[in-house]
Amino acid sequence: MIGLIGLGAMGGGYATRLMEQNCEVLCFDTMPEARARVQGKGASVAASLEVLGLTCKTIILSLPKAAIVEAVMAELGPHLRPGTIVIDTSTSEPDTTKRLSAIASDNDYHFLDGPVSGGPLGARTGTMTMVVGGDEDAFAKVRPLLEKMTGKLLHIGPSGAGHTVKIANNLLCAANLVLMGEMAQMAERAGISLAELLAGVNAGSGRSGVSEVNFPKWITNEAYDSGFTMGLMRKDVGLATGLADRLGISLPATEVIAAIWEQSRDMLDDSADFNEIYKYRKRSNA
Ligand code: NAD
Repeated sequence: MIGLIGLGAMGGGYATRLMEQNCEVLCFDTMPEARARVQGKGASVAASLEVLGLTCKTIILSLPKAAIVEAVMAELGPHLRPGTIVIDTSTSEPDTTKRLSAIASDNDYHFLDGPVSGGPLGARTGTMTMVVGGDEDAFAKVRPLLEKMTGKLLHIGPSGAGHTVKIANNLLCAANLVLMGEMAQMAERAGISLAELLAGVNAGSGRSGVSEVNFPKWITNEAYDSGFTMGLMRKDVGLATGLADRLGISLPATEVIAAIWEQSRDMLDDSADFNEIYKYRKRSNA
C-alpha cells in the first residue's frame, strides 16, 4: 500500500496515475475537498497521519513548502515502521531535507528528496521528470514505483541534492520567462513579431524550456493554464535566494530576477499562472 500525503494539483494526479498502474493507495490531505476528489476516483483516505504511517511502508509527499513538510514529518515520523521509505516530491529546502533525512536514519526509516517537473499533466500521465537525492539502496527499492510516475528519473546525489538541483532548475525557468518578456519587447520595437523571434531563438543557442515549451503551450495562445501558480514560483525563487544566503555566496543576477518576481505582485497575485510574468515584463516599456 502506497501512502500519498498532499492531494493538490500534483498529488491528486499521482493518486489517479498510481491507481491506473494497479497500485493500492492510501491518501491524506487536510482539505476535505482534496480528500473528496480522490475518493470520487476510487482512492482510500486515511483518517489520520498516524493511520497512514502505520499502514504504508512507502509514502509520497506533495506539500506546498518546507515548513509544512517538516510539520507533517514531525507528526508522521513516530508512527513509521522500520525500513519505511518516504519520498518528498515537494519543491522544498535542502537544509530541511538533510535534517529530515538525518532524523529518518536515526529512527530506522529513509527520507529521500524527489522533486519533480512536468506540472499536473505530467503527474497525471506519469511523464514527470524526477531528480532524487538520498540513500542509493533506498532509491533502488522504490525505483520501480517511481518509474510508474515519471518519464525521466535520475538519482542525483546525497540527501538535499534533488532539492538543490530543482531550485536551480526553477530559478533558470523564472529567469528565462523574465528575459523572454524583455526580448519580445525589443523585437517588437524593432519590427519583429513574436513568432519570428521564437523561430530564430529556438534554432539558436538561446533556446530553453521556456522558448520551446512554455511559449507554444501557454503563452503564444494566451491559455495561461499550466496549473503552476505565481505563488509557487515566487516560493521557488525565494528558495534560490535563501540557499545562496545560507551558503554565503552573492548571486547578483538571481537577486534582480527575484526582485522582479516580487514587484510583479502589483499586477499578478499568487493564484495567477506563473507564465503571466511574461505579460508583466512585456509591459515594462509600454
Ligand atoms: P497544491 O497547493 O495544489 O497542493 C498541496 C496540497 O497539500 C493541498 O491539497 C493542501 O491541502 C495539502 N496540504 C497542505 N498542508 C497539509 C498538511 N499539513 N497535511 C496534508 N496535506 C496538506 O500544490 P501543488 O501544485 O500540488 O504542488 C505541490 C508541490 O509540488 C509544491 O511543493 C510545488 O512547488 C511542487 N510542484 C508543483 C508543480 C505544479 O505544476 N503545480 C510542478 C512541480 C512541482
